[in-house]
Amino acid sequence: MEAYDAIVIGAGHNGLVCAAYLLNAGHSVLLLEKRSVPGGAATTEEALPEEAPGFKFNLCAIDHEFIFLGPIIQELQLHKYGLKYLTCDPHTFCPHPDGRYFLAHQSLEQTRTEIARYSARDADKYVEFVNYWSKLMSAIAPFFNAPPQSILGIAGGYKGKNLADVLAIAGSKDKALNFIRTMITAPEDLLNEYFDTELVKAPLARLAAEIGAPPSQKGITAGLMMLAMRHHPGMARPQGGTGALTQALVKLVTAKGGKILTEQMVKEVIVEDRRAVGVRVAGGKEYLAKQGIISNIDVRRLFLQLVAPDAVEPNLREKVDRRITNNNETILKIDCALSEPPRFTAYEREDQEHLIGTVLIADSVAHVEQAHSLATMGEIPDANPSMYLDIPSVLDPTLAPEGKHTLWIEFFAPYQIAGKAGTGLHGTGWTDQLKNQVADKVIDKLADYAPNIKDSMIARRVESPAELGERLGSYKGNYYHLDMGLDQMIFLRPLPEIANYTTPIKNLYLTGAGTHPGGSISGMPGRNCARVFLNRQQPLAKIQQSVSSTWRSLLGLN
Ligand SMILES: Cc1cc2nc3c(=O)[nH]c(=O)nc-3n(C[C@H](O)[C@H](O)[C@H](O)COP(=O)(O)OP(=O)(O)OC[C@H]3O[C@@H](n4cnc5c(N)ncnc54)[C@H](O)[C@@H]3O)c2cc1C
Repeated sequence: MEAYDAIVIGAGHNGLVCAAYLLNAGHSVLLLEKRSVPGGAATTEEALPEEAPGFKFNLCAIDHEFIFLGPIIQELQLHKYGLKYLTCDPHTFCPHPDGRYFLAHQSLEQTRTEIARYSARDADKYVEFVNYWSKLMSAIAPFFNAPPQSILGIAGGYKGKNLADVLAIAGSKDKALNFIRTMITAPEDLLNEYFDTELVKAPLARLAAEIGAPPSQKGITAGLMMLAMRHHPGMARPQGGTGALTQALVKLVTAKGGKILTEQMVKEVIVEDRRAVGVRVAGGKEYLAKQGIISNIDVRRLFLQLVAPDAVEPNLREKVDRRITNNNETILKIDCALSEPPRFTAYEREDQEHLIGTVLIADSVAHVEQAHSLATMGEIPDANPSMYLDIPSVLDPTLAPEGKHTLWIEFFAPYQIAGKAGTGLHGTGWTDQLKNQVADKVIDKLADYAPNIKDSMIARRVESPAELGERLGSYKGNYYHLDMGLDQMIFLRPLPEIANYTTPIKNLYLTGAGTHPGGSISGMPGRNCARVFLNRQQPLAKIQQSVSSTWRSLLGLN
């Protein structure tokens, strides 16, 4: 039977990152991926080979911000494996129904000038808002880049700038209390506190709601980071699409001797005497793991589908089943091949600068609220669709044949449609006819802003929430594996008992979006999990050495 030091279940980008660190430390690693291609929600694929050959689509993630808050790209030297990032500047365009538009550049000053055309007060407040959130990000970034229950690991990440920002955010009683209030309030409340105009509030609410909940929901203000990060460290996309990040990781993993097997659906984790010793894949083949099995899928899928019920203590199994929240909101994904880029009537200039970054269709905070709250209740918010779209080929022409373009649309929709249980794909209510009807309404709405969209359509691919869930394997198609509310973050993700990448089953580890610091393209869960795995293999003397080095760095002696 084949045996490896570590086996990774799933070759999403976090599984690949984790594998890369283990390989760098000299371990043998096998990754088992259920799909025919690695990458999970980080792939770029020629998904319409007959109707639109040569068009490459990002079937899930496209805009990268979080990965720049950590050291993964540099530590793994991913540029050596072909990774090249293209910066999105401007990063956000939101045309308003009254003909005006919001356009944010990476430069705060340029953005202030744009907003000042409509409101001098909001322009100044925008700068204040982004500066506060940028400091907050810098103050908490060391938390993201360390296992959440490793005090030394977190402390070791604090350097001069992060420490100064901690003081700026929480360096007095009033500041600390304001910080707490900021984190537990709702994005909508905070936006109303800062701004007057819908022109500024609506796009910010739309980006905040990317965390997967309506802007009125308390405890999800962390979503507002999405905007601040677009200014600093910035938003970018790999040349060749998000799949180019996966490809760089695949090249690195295989160059270091790692093995990736695709079309290998893991069906069972073999546990003997409360210790994970191997896995069994569809078809019955078994692989042995000498030191550990790392799950790139979340703990609900792992414990409820792959681990025998008696291998997990009943109380914990019940919490995994019933306490972890996974709301009903997911994505109906539309990818289009276009003969020309969309022409937005609100943008009167000749250049295509506004198409470089994200385009948001978000007319007001109430519009965004409907888009997200209806979805969680099982209703399809397609009467007046709000959406997030990109035209990736404007920044990166390699994604489409010369002169042609790709269009990426994310429309939030329910996984389970209310009143349709038991019908459609997996009983969700979604059928081919319904997904296409919804896509038509989304395109109709887009045509109100960019009237050439329908005539420029060469072909389109529509993926319903049920199909997306099937492709990724995630519960209810959750693109972050589990909800990202404050109650499931940091040392509470996925549950307090198992928030440090380990489980009560010896040698069974967790990584991926369902672990700290959560979903999105960051690679941080993969890197943090690798640290925990490697620490467990280290002799005591090496751990003492690393503790002493952390203290030396904190005292400025290194
Ligand atoms: C439509 C969409 C748009 C998004 N847009 C963005 C964006 O613009 N920016 C951003 O930062 N984030 C975005 N995200 C979120 C981001 O893509 C994910 O949070 C992230 O890619 C998760 O990575 P992961 O490695 O943790 O998990 P995954 O990518 O989910 O990887 C898990 C892997 O495990 C495999 N697998 C599952 N079950 C099994 C099994 N039993 N056996 C073997 N293999 C298995 C899966 O096929 C998959 O490859 C988006 C997500 C979606 C769905």
